[in-house]
Amino acid sequence: MKEGFWSSTNKPIPNGIRIDQDIIELLTKLCKLESIASKRRFKGSSKCRVCGQRNGSVEFTYKGWTWPSGFKHYIEDHWVRPSKDFISLVLSMPDFDSTDDIVYKLSEEFTRRRRDGR
Ligand SMILES: [Zn+2]
Repeated sequence: MKEGFWSSTNKPIPNGIRIDQDIIELLTKLCKLESIASKRRFKGSSKCRVCGQRNGSVEFTYKGWTWPSGFKHYIEDHWVRPSKDFISLVLSMPDFDSTDDIVYKLSEEFTRRRRDGR
């Protein structure tokens, strides 16, 4: 199964998700998932199809799923909603300890963005 690979017929749809507790959980668990997934590095990075920024050159594989490192950017910055099955995979990761750095950083970031109305 592939997730987050875009084509002319499968484009990212921004603003599919709200920034709330659920998305913080999703993103923190995606970080965890990416830390344990197999990684393949490609030459040259892909470009974000929404804002055009360089968007990573790593592909992750875990339990039959493959997704690009840039997928997180679509979720985080353009609020693209992953498929239900991919969300299930991500949420199957065990919880972080609440004192874990990465959770803290992401929560801070989202609190700031929500305050700034982004
Ligand atoms: Zn972008």
